[in-house]
Amino acid sequence: MVQKRWFMEDFYFLEDERVRQFLIVGKEEALLIDTGFEDSHVYDVVRSITELPVRVLMTHGDRDHAGGLKDFGACQIHKGDWNLIPEGIHTEPLREGDIFHCGSYTLEVVEIPGHTYGSVAFVEWEKKLLLPGDSVQKDGPIYMFGEHRNLDRYIESLKKLQGLADRVETVLPCHHDCPITPDYIGKNLQDAEAMKNGMLSGKKHPHLPCASYHGRWTEFYYTDYVSE
Ligand SMILES: [Zn+2]
Repeated sequence: MVQKRWFMEDFYFLEDERVRQFLIVGKEEALLIDTGFEDSHVYDVVRSITELPVRVLMTHGDRDHAGGLKDFGACQIHKGDWNLIPEGIHTEPLREGDIFHCGSYTLEVVEIPGHTYGSVAFVEWEKKLLLPGDSVQKDGPIYMFGEHRNLDRYIESLKKLQGLADRVETVLPCHHDCPITPDYIGKNLQDAEAMKNGMLSGKKHPHLPCASYHGRWTEFYYTDYVSE
């Protein structure tokens, strides 16, 4: 089961060593960003913090983010990832520029396709927070193998985030260290471009169908690998 970690006023990290979710508790409702693995039991942890109705917003539809949806029944997620959501979940679209208010927080949706086609980030402009899902991380590995990923679009999305980087101070990724500083946007971008340009050599992963590529700062799991 995930543990809760207080981050700032009315804002919690729900996390284990695998993946992280974010809970903001307002006056009339709570906002939950992502739902973890099915066995993360995020619903129970949310209910240990608040009894308010919960609105679920999704950074993207990968299984380690969408596994807990069956306990909530509904979510808002970009249409590019609707095909990743299990049947029986009520889905509503997230779009560029959508705004959500919760307590003292205002989140704006920024579309960042690439890690998945429906990946989005959430930005809190006043508090200078960026929630990039899996698209920005310290060290990684960032998963970029499989049919529902696109390296070119990922690089374009990192450039888009790079354009916002001087307006945020704190980046809250779903994996590994959190919080991190906005310079990791540029570090991930530089390494992703090096990988695209064939400047990094891949090493076959021992059990996943991909190879591991080490950039200067970031590891990626990607498929265009040279086997040993
Ligand atoms: Zn993911």
